[in-house]
Amino acid sequence: MTAFTSTPLEDIPEIRDALLKGFDSGKTKPIKHRKEQLLQLAYLLKDNYQRFLDALTKDLGRPALEADFMEMTSTLGDIHDSYNNVGKWAKDEKAPFSALWYFMNPTVRKEPKGVVLIIGPFNFPILCLLMPLACALAAGNTVLLKPSELSTAMSDLIAELVPKYFEPDVVRVVQGGIPQTTKLIEYPWGHICYTGSPRVARIIAHAAANTLTPVTFELGGKNPTIVDAKADLKLAARRILWGRDVNAGQACTAPEYVLVVRSVEEEFIKELQNTYASFYENDPSGSKSFSRIITPEHASRIGNLLSETKGKVIAGGEVDPEHKYIAPTIVRDVPPDDSLMSEEVFGPVLSIIPVNNIDEAIAFANARDQPLCVYIFTQDKNVKKKVIENTRSGAVVVNDVVIHPAATGLPFGGTGLSGYGSMTGKWGFNTFTLFRALLDSPGWLDTLVLWPRFPPYTDDKYR
Ligand code: NAD
Repeated sequence: MTAFTSTPLEDIPEIRDALLKGFDSGKTKPIKHRKEQLLQLAYLLKDNYQRFLDALTKDLGRPALEADFMEMTSTLGDIHDSYNNVGKWAKDEKAPFSALWYFMNPTVRKEPKGVVLIIGPFNFPILCLLMPLACALAAGNTVLLKPSELSTAMSDLIAELVPKYFEPDVVRVVQGGIPQTTKLIEYPWGHICYTGSPRVARIIAHAAANTLTPVTFELGGKNPTIVDAKADLKLAARRILWGRDVNAGQACTAPEYVLVVRSVEEEFIKELQNTYASFYENDPSGSKSFSRIITPEHASRIGNLLSETKGKVIAGGEVDPEHKYIAPTIVRDVPPDDSLMSEEVFGPVLSIIPVNNIDEAIAFANARDQPLCVYIFTQDKNVKKKVIENTRSGAVVVNDVVIHPAATGLPFGGTGLSGYGSMTGKWGFNTFTLFRALLDSPGWLDTLVLWPRFPPYTDDKYR
């Protein structure tokens, strides 16, 4: 494993104390300050644009174009949204009119939660760390960032830049792996936002239970992708293959497996193969449009799943862990209990599973853990409706894949094993906000209305 930088454990209490003091000073609460922090975050990304792209290439062999629109543009879009709307989002809200409560002026105040801990994954190291940072700053918190130790270049870059753009009592970075995270989660926080695997989420949840810290979990899983007999098969093949292979399959929203209706299976597979040839000219290892797996160990794990499949590999299949390379691979006739269906593959391997009809596809998806997204490719509005209404997931996308986390104004998050809570835009603002109830009760109400509440509870007070 590549060496990575770790913050000394003994520095962590001082870093947390500084952020607590920063929050307690009250300086992060005014909207003006929040907007300044959001601007600083935008400058941090824009001033160092090329360095961010280079770090992604170093860690993940990420093509610049892909990194640009999948991470930088999406993150900047969300910062922009928060900057434009924070004043509106943070405004007090009046409770709906009630004659009983009207004179106490019932109001919901939007207050920051305190010091927020954001723990990021390796695969989208900008989006999954800095998007929640934007939301937490918009909500008026101070923030501690813990980037993934696996994306080492990105972790180093963020640790270098944060002190240049933020005051040390507003945003800080702790680098490192398990020891650092273990130490961090011993403390109570205003909120913890964790993006990563369900396995580690359980560890975080246990620790958060001890301190009663609220948590948001952005996790992964296997996203089912249904291809109906009335789908535009060329479009479906192009979008699905792109979505499966973007970032070499290391995307939580990737279409992990396709449930294709048998009557169009052969035609769909032919379209997939044509698309494959057009994307990579049948040599993805030499392609400048294809990323690498984060570590040789991760590549070996994917290689092992592939070596045990009972399905038929019809494209790709090459595995070279030493060079962190797994070819974009298509496997057809994958049985439901296959190695490729046993866990989140998190690599560029697309499994094709034929089904007799849409009902069978829905039943297949529903028999498994609730995913982040369900994808349905069809031109038939009744099929769309049926899939939307009869499946459960954090999102449902018709005739496209992967892109919805960037859609301004929509919540992005999971359900069940794919997580809970949201970290984008207004939804993220709400995540990091305490909705505080406020009543202001005038004394004269006791004389006119509230007098029966005081003892003695004499009979004349019962109505
Ligand atoms: P991971 O769970 O291995 O690591 C994520 C973070 O947890 C890292 O910062 C790491 O240092 C820390 N960590 C690891 N082991 C730990 C332990 N034992 N105790 C405490 N902390 C620990 O996840 P990953 O491999 O970096 O990311 C891949 C996973 O994240 C996939 O499952 C993917 O689907 C999911 N993901 C979800 C989203 C989303 O928004 N829903 C986005 C990206 C990735």
